[in-house]
Amino acid sequence: MQTLLSIVVPVYNEARNLRPFYAELVAHTHSNTYTFEFIFIDDGSKDASAAVLCDLADADPRVRIIQLARNFGKEAAVSAGLHAVQGKAAIVMDSDMQMPPSLIGEFISKWEAGAEVVVGVFSARSMSPLRATGAKVFYRIMRAIAHTKITPHATDFRLLDRQVIDVFNDLPERNRITRGLIDWLGFDRAYVYFEQAPRLHGKPTYDFRSLVRLAINSFTSYSLVPLKLAGYLGVAILMLSIPAGAFMCIERFLLHDPFHWGISGTAFLAMMLLFLVGVVLACLGLMSLYIAHIHSEVIDRPLYIARRTIKVGRSVEEAQI
Ligand code: UDP
Ligand code: MG
Repeated sequence: MQTLLSIVVPVYNEARNLRPFYAELVAHTHSNTYTFEFIFIDDGSKDASAAVLCDLADADPRVRIIQLARNFGKEAAVSAGLHAVQGKAAIVMDSDMQMPPSLIGEFISKWEAGAEVVVGVFSARSMSPLRATGAKVFYRIMRAIAHTKITPHATDFRLLDRQVIDVFNDLPERNRITRGLIDWLGFDRAYVYFEQAPRLHGKPTYDFRSLVRLAINSFTSYSLVPLKLAGYLGVAILMLSIPAGAFMCIERFLLHDPFHWGISGTAFLAMMLLFLVGVVLACLGLMSLYIAHIHSEVIDRPLYIARRTIKVGRSVEEAQI
C-alpha cells in the first residue's frame, strides 16, 4: 500500500500564483511509493484565490481546501492545515513559488533517512538591505536570549513527521510562530539548503510597511496601549538622555568646558533624572508586552475559524475550533 503524504499550503491573495504553483507541485509529486493530498488553506483571500482553488479541487481529488472566515494570518492558516493533515508526514510550503516544489523529493529522502523534521534553509537571500540588516539583528538577539536553538534563515518550508504533527496540534498557545514552536519541540532534524526564488506574482504580505501597519493596528486593538506608549516614551527618553548626558560629562570633565557652557550640577541632576525615568518607562513597556501575551492566552480564543472545509476528512471538523 502506498503511504499518504500531505502538502500544506497557506494562501492569501495568490490567485495568479496558484495554477503555476499547482502545476509544479503535481510535476514533482510523481511517486510509486507515495500518494499525496494537497491541503490549501485560503486565509480569507480577497482576490479570486478561492475560485481558483475550487477549480483545482474539482479537477483533482487530491486537492483539499480549508477556507477561513477571514484573514487570520499565515501562522493560524498553517495550524489549520496541520490539524487537517492525514498523511504520515506533511510538507508546509508557500504558494508564491519562493519555495521550489522541485525540492520535495529531497525533503522526503531526508525524512526516509530518519529525520523527523526537515527544515528548508535559505542559502542566499535576495532581501533588501533594510530587511537583511533587520534579519541579522533579529538572529543575533534571538541567539543571545532564546533557549531554543535557532538556525539563521531557516524558513517555514518544512517537512514534519506524523509524530511531530500530533504533538504540534496539541500545543495550546495562541501567539504562535510556527517555526519557533517546531524548533522548541526538538526531534531529529535535517536541513535542505535552497536559493530563494523571487515571488512569482504579487507583493509579499510581510513587507516593511505592512509590518509597521500591523504594529500600529495591534496597538489600537489592545487596551494596553497606554502601557505600550509608556514603553516607547521610555526608550525615546533613554535614547535622548544617554548621549546628552555623555556629551555633558565629556564637555565638562574631560575637555574642561571648551564651550564655556558652565553646565551646572542641577543640569547633571536633571539629565540623571531623565535617564532614570526612561529606564522605568522602558521596563513598564516591556512588562506590558508580556501582559499582552498573557491576556491573549487567558481569553482562550480559538486559533482560527473555518467557514467551510471542502473534501477534508472528519478529523478536521473535530479539530476546527
Ligand atoms: N499568507 C497567508 N496569510 C497571510 C499572509 C500570507 O496565508 O496573512 C501566505 C501567502 O499566501 C504565502 C505565504 O503565506 O503562501 C508567505 O507569504 P509571503 O510570501 O507574503 O511572505 P514572505 O515570503 O515575505 O515571508
Ligand atoms: Mg513569499
